[in-house]
Amino acid sequence: TYTYNTSNANPFSVSFCKSSSTPTTTATATSPNGRPPPTKFTSLVSLKPYLQSDWRPILSGWVCSAVSVYSLSKIVPLVGKFPSLLTTANPMHLRKEGLVLGVLVLVRIIASYLQQAFLWEAALNCVYKIRVYVFNRVLQRDLGFFEGEKGVLPGDIAYRITAEASDVGDTVYSLLDTIVPSTLQFAAMATQMVITSPTFSLISALAIPSMAFITGYLGEKLREISNEAHLSIAALSAYLNEVFPSILFVKANNTESCEIVKFQSIASTQLSAYLRKKKMKAFIPHIVQIMYFGLLFAFGVASLVISRGSFNCSAIFSFITSLVLLMQPIQGVGKAYNELKEGEPAIERLLNLTMFKSQVIEKPDAVELGPVTGEVKFCGVSFKYGDDIPFVLDGLNLHIKAGETIALVGPSGGGKTTLAKLLLRLYDPLFGSILIDGIDIRNVRLESLRRHVGLVSQDTTLFAGTISENIGYRDLMTGIDMRKVELAAQTANADEFIKNLPEQFETNVGPRGSNFSGGQKQRLAIARAQYQNPSILILDEATSALDSRSELLVRQALQHLMQNRTVLVIAHRLETVLMTERVFLLNDGKLREVSHSSLMDELHGSLSSTELVI
Ligand code: ADP
Ligand code: MG
Repeated sequence: TYTYNTSNANPFSVSFCKSSSTPTTTATATSPNGRPPPTKFTSLVSLKPYLQSDWRPILSGWVCSAVSVYSLSKIVPLVGKFPSLLTTANPMHLRKEGLVLGVLVLVRIIASYLQQAFLWEAALNCVYKIRVYVFNRVLQRDLGFFEGEKGVLPGDIAYRITAEASDVGDTVYSLLDTIVPSTLQFAAMATQMVITSPTFSLISALAIPSMAFITGYLGEKLREISNEAHLSIAALSAYLNEVFPSILFVKANNTESCEIVKFQSIASTQLSAYLRKKKMKAFIPHIVQIMYFGLLFAFGVASLVISRGSFNCSAIFSFITSLVLLMQPIQGVGKAYNELKEGEPAIERLLNLTMFKSQVIEKPDAVELGPVTGEVKFCGVSFKYGDDIPFVLDGLNLHIKAGETIALVGPSGGGKTTLAKLLLRLYDPLFGSILIDGIDIRNVRLESLRRHVGLVSQDTTLFAGTISENIGYRDLMTGIDMRKVELAAQTANADEFIKNLPEQFETNVGPRGSNFSGGQKQRLAIARAQYQNPSILILDEATSALDSRSELLVRQALQHLMQNRTVLVIAHRLETVLMTERVFLLNDGKLREVSHSSLMDELHGSLSSTELVI
C-alpha cells in the first residue's frame, strides 16, 4: 500500500491540492483501469477533504433546514386548529392566526429554498475541487498509463471526470440534504414517543435493527449493480471517443453499418445494466416499508392494552402519530444510504485515477540542466514495456556527438520511437543509463530535460486554439512571444499559408486541425519545435506521411530546424537518411552502425520506392 503523493503537484494547481486537507487515504495499488474495492466507507471518508473548506454553506444549509423543520412543526397544529376557529367565528382571532400561518409558510418556503441553494453550493464546489484535483493527478501519471494494451481509454477518463463527477455531486447533495433534517425530525419524534410511552418506544425500537440489516444488505447489492452500470456507460463513452476521431477512416472503409452493430452491442449491455439498477432502486423503497409492519404491531399491542383499560386513547393516537412521523426520517436515512451506495462506484472510479505510484520520478535533488552542447550517450540501455514481454531495447550503446545529426533506421516495431521516449524520459530504462553532456537524465529536473529535448513526430498534434497558440504552446501559461512565433513560422515555410488564412496567426485551427493538409500540419509542428529551440532534436518519421510537393517544403523546413543542434532522425525515407552524417540500424533490440553505401546496397533491388522500412 502507499499513500497519495502530492509533493510534485503542478505549480498552478489550485491551492487545496497542496494544503493539509489533501486526501491522505491509504489505497491498495490500482490496475490501470483502477477499480480495487476500497474498504468500507473509504469513499465517504475520502470526500471529507473536498468538503471541509465549504463548511460555511453546509452549516448555513443545515441551519435553514432546522428553521424549515421548526416552521413545519408549528404549521401542522395551527392548520389543525382552523376548523374550530371557524366555528367560534371570532374574526379577530381568525385574522391573527391566519397572519401567523402566512408568516410561517413564507418562512418555510424561504428556508427550504435557502437550504437547497446552500447545500448545492457546497456539493458543486466539492465536485469542482475533485475535478481539478483528479485532472491534475491524471496529467501527472506516467505515459504508460495511457498507452499499450492496458492503457485506459481517453473516453473512459473523460466520462469519469465529466459525468461521474456530476454523479458524485448528486450523491453529496443528497447526503447533505438528508442527514440533518432527518436527524432533527427523528430526534423530535423519538423524544415525543419516549415521553408518551417508554414501553411502546422499546417495542418499536426492535424494528430498527432488522430495518438496518435489510437496508445494509440491499445497499451493498445496489453498489455492485451501480458499479456495473457505471462501467457500461464508461464503455459507451470510450467507444464514442474512439469512433468520431476516426470518422474519415470509417467512411472511407464504408463500415458505418459495422460500427452501428458495435454501438448497438455496447448500448444494449448498458441498457441491461441500467435497467437492473433502476429496478433495484424501485424495489428498495418498498422493502423499506416493511417498517410499517412495526406500526401494525404497535396497533395490535395498543388495542390489547386499551381493552385491558390500562392506557388512555389519546396517548395511543399521539404515540402512533409520532411513530408515523418517526418513520419518515428513517426512510430518509435509508434513501440517503442507498444514494451513497449508488454513488460510491463513481467516487471510487474517480479517485482511483489519482491513486498511483509513478515509475518516472523526479529526484528531490534533481539538477537544472543549463545550456548544453547536446552530446547524448546511451550506455547499455535495456527496456521492455511489461513483465512478460520481450525486451524492445537490449543493452543498447549509442554516442551522438554534440551538434551531430544521425539517422536511425530499422523495421517497424523495432523500437525506434521507444528510444525517443527514453531520451525524453517518458519511461526509464530497466538497465543502463542515458547521459546528456555527461549528466544522467535521471538526475535532471524533468521540466528542464524536456525543454532541451524537442520532438517532431509523424502524428502532428494540433490543439483547439489559434495558430499562434499552437506554435507557442510551451509558453501558453507564461505568455507567447509573437515575434518568435512569426520567426518560427517563417523558418518552417509556414508563414506563406498562414498569411493567406482569414485571421492569419489568430485563426482557429478547428477540431484536431482537420482543415489543414498533412504538409501544413507538419510545418506547424516544425514551427513549434523551432519556437522551442531545443539543443537536442528528435524527428520521428516526420516526413513519412507526405506527398512529394509538401515533402519538399517540409524537408526545407526541417533542414533549417536541424541547424546548430544535435539531431536524431528516425527515418523512413532514403532522402532523409542521406541528409545525416551517420546511420544506425535498430533491429532485435540491438544497434549497428551502417555506412550510407552499405545501406544503399542492402536496399538495392529489394525496394522499388525509397521507403526504408524493412
Ligand atoms: P518503431 O517506432 O520502431 O516502429 P516502437 O518503438 O513504436 O517501434 O515499438 C517497439 C515495440 O514495442 C513494438 O513491438 C510495439 O508494439 C511495442 N510497444 C510500443 N509501445 C508500447 C506500449 N506502450 N506498451 C506495450 N508495448 C509497446
Ligand atoms: Mg515509431
